[in-house]
This record gives sequence, structure tokens and C-alpha cells, in this order.
Amino acid sequence: MKYYWIETYGCQMNTAESNAIINDLRSKGWKEAESEETADFVLINTCSVRQTAENRIWGRIGYYKHLKESHNFTLAITGCMAERLKEGLQKKAPAVDMVIGNFNKERLAEYLDTKKIWNDNLVSDGEYTFRELHLAENAFKAMVPIMHGCNNFCTYCIVPYVRGREISRSPESIIRELKELEQKGVKEVTLLGQNVNSYRYIQNDTIINFTGLLKLILNETKSLGWIRFISSHPKDVPEDLIDLIAGNDRLCKHIHLAVQHGSDKILDRMNRGYTRSDFFSLAKKMKTRIPGISITTDLLIGFPGETQGDLELTKDLMKEIKFNDAFTYYYNPREGTKAFDFADSIEDKEKLKRLNEIIRIQRKISNIIKMDRVGEKVKVLVESVSRKNGEELLGRTEKNEMVVFPGESALIGTFQNIKLIDLGGNTFKGSIV
Ligand code: SF4
Repeated sequence: MKYYWIETYGCQMNTAESNAIINDLRSKGWKEAESEETADFVLINTCSVRQTAENRIWGRIGYYKHLKESHNFTLAITGCMAERLKEGLQKKAPAVDMVIGNFNKERLAEYLDTKKIWNDNLVSDGEYTFRELHLAENAFKAMVPIMHGCNNFCTYCIVPYVRGREISRSPESIIRELKELEQKGVKEVTLLGQNVNSYRYIQNDTIINFTGLLKLILNETKSLGWIRFISSHPKDVPEDLIDLIAGNDRLCKHIHLAVQHGSDKILDRMNRGYTRSDFFSLAKKMKTRIPGISITTDLLIGFPGETQGDLELTKDLMKEIKFNDAFTYYYNPREGTKAFDFADSIEDKEKLKRLNEIIRIQRKISNIIKMDRVGEKVKVLVESVSRKNGEELLGRTEKNEMVVFPGESALIGTFQNIKLIDLGGNTFKGSIV
């Protein structure tokens, strides 16, 4: 018997792709090792979005180099860092046996048999290949990639360079996977793409866009209770998509719309393709037409050229829109991107100070929104036993909020109606009704 150990970093696309790789390995007779120390094959599926992400992976490679002194195994690196550094990764870390780019992940099992190292021809020839099944073992929630890559070239972002141009998966292949997930009892799917709402597939001279795909999915599936999608670009949210979300209970009332900044000057330097006022109109329209919708966002603080005035515009936008939640981070130059050549004169200490101001504001807004919801009855999908209290369960609402409540573990994987009775930190406390 051969044993594998896979570490996955970064986005949900990486997680979905790791699941597909695991399915491949299992079908070839591999089993998951009890720990990395007993594995014959170790794979690190990497992220390259920030330098800190890559630093962490270098640390893991160092750890495995050390482990190789006492244990014989194959060490492979795939994902965006492998795609970015190519053979350079192996030159810097000879303990790495295999480097596999994002466009060759589906051939990993084959590579494993032949121990073929990075091959540039395979990469430049390759179009991204969508896999047929991305479900983790015994899972009732699944991530389903529907498009891949990005054409937007935001000046700070490495994604178009390591994931390539946009390519959409065929509707047949998507529906086939979703039907299989239904048969396996999956209750919730998240449709994935770097720019999910720019999905565009041409079939028999007809263009199927993202709204068209969602309509098809709603028609062709029945037992998938909740359908989510991520990531949506604010410039690609058409009217018919808003109407569809508003009118269908199976589409979760939650959208993640990364605004990144509140200043037009900075949005322009980031090449985001919309203005502050465009974003305001979109958020207002969505809140009016989809009552109660949760809008979450990403905020990138300390971008080159950001003044205190630009920061104030961002704070003002946050207070006006009242995002339910925000992923906040401060800018670090990323080699290979356009912004890498921008003069970055804001010191890290100052960036951190600005970031902390933003975090404080968002925490307050999120808390007020959540406190207002105490007393409501909500539907949750039960995920697991609570880590803090073995007699409680943890579930999530359609807005992706966490709720703990007393209950039996037999309820895991089912939808339950819960009354929200209190808020502790970021998590609601509730009871089954
Ligand atoms: S839209 Fe911009 S931030 Fe998002 S993946 Fe594309 S280039 Fe990166």
C-alpha cells in the first residue's frame, strides 16, 4: 500500500483541486497517511498571492528537507508558487523532487509514476483542464470550479500570470458533477472561479453567461439546497443576476464583492475597472432588490500613492455601505505584477496602523449588524460538533455566519431552523425551533 500526505494553502480553488488529486490517487490505490512522517508521497499545493504565503511554504519545504534525512519519500510542489517559480524552485530547494504547474495538476498521478520533472512545453501547450469531481470524502458541502483564470490584470495581482486567461467549463460537465453530488447527498455547493460571474461558454453559436448557467443549474438540480458562488467582480454583476438571486431561495443571499478601496484614484491605479460611485450604486441596488442580502468584501490598504485622504474615503465607504464582513490586508509588492514597479513609499508600520483603523471600523459594523439579528429565526446547515463544547453543534447560515446550538451529532449535514438567542464574539448562539 502507498500512502500520500497533501497540504493545501490559499484559495478554495486550490482546495477543490487538491480534492480532485486525492480522488485520482485513491483510484490508483493510494491511501491517506496517518501523518506526513509515514507518507511515501508528500504534495504541497501552494499559494502565491502574497510573499507571506510563499514564505510559509519555504518553511514547510525546509521542514520536509529535514524529514528526508530520516525518511524516504517523494516531495512534490504544485499550485501558484510552482507555476510562478518553475524550475527555479527546485534549484533553490533540491529536496523538492517534482514541480508541477497549475496546468498540469490533472496529470500528477501520471507524473508520480514516471517521476517526470517540470516540462515547460507541457505548460505552454496546456489549457486548463477541469476535473470531473472535486468532492472531499464523505462531505455534504462541495466546491465546483466552473471557470478558471482572469483577464483583468489588477496591477497588484499575480493571478493572471499564474492561472492564465479566463476559460469556462462546459455546462454539461458542470451539470454532470452537480448531479453526481446530489446522488452522494451533498446539500450545498459553491461555484468557483477567479472571476466567477464572467463565466461565458459558447455552445452551438449561443453564449451561456453566468446568469444563464445558474438558471440551467436551478432547472437541472433539485436536492442541492444552497448554491453559492465566489469570487464575483463588481464590474460583472448584471441586472438579471440580481433578479435571479432575489427570486430564488436556493441561491444564497450572500455575495462577496471585493471593493478593495474607496478612493477613485487608488481604484484607477489598481486597474479595478469601476469607480467608487459605480460600487455604491451596485451595493445600493443589491440591498434594495434583495432585502437582507449580506455583502462582504476585500479591502487592500496602503497601496502605493494612498494618502490619509484616500484612507478616509475608504472608511467613509465602509460606513455608508455597511459590509457584513471584510477580509482586510495591507499591500506588499508582488514581483511580476505591474504595481511592483510603483514607488511604494508607505512604510509597513504606517500600513499596519491604517489597516488596524480599518479593522476596528469593520468589527464595529459587523457587530452591530449581527446584534440586530438576535431574535431572528434562520435556517442553518449543520457542519460539525462545536470545538468548544461537545454537546453543541456548529452550523452556518446562508450568509455564511456561524451559529452554535445544543443538538445531537446525527444532525450534521442537515438543515435546521434555529432561533438566534445571543452573540458571542463573531458566533451566534441559538436553539433549534
Ligand atoms: S480580478 Fe483582479 S484581483 Fe481578482 S484575480 Fe483578477 S487580477 Fe486578481
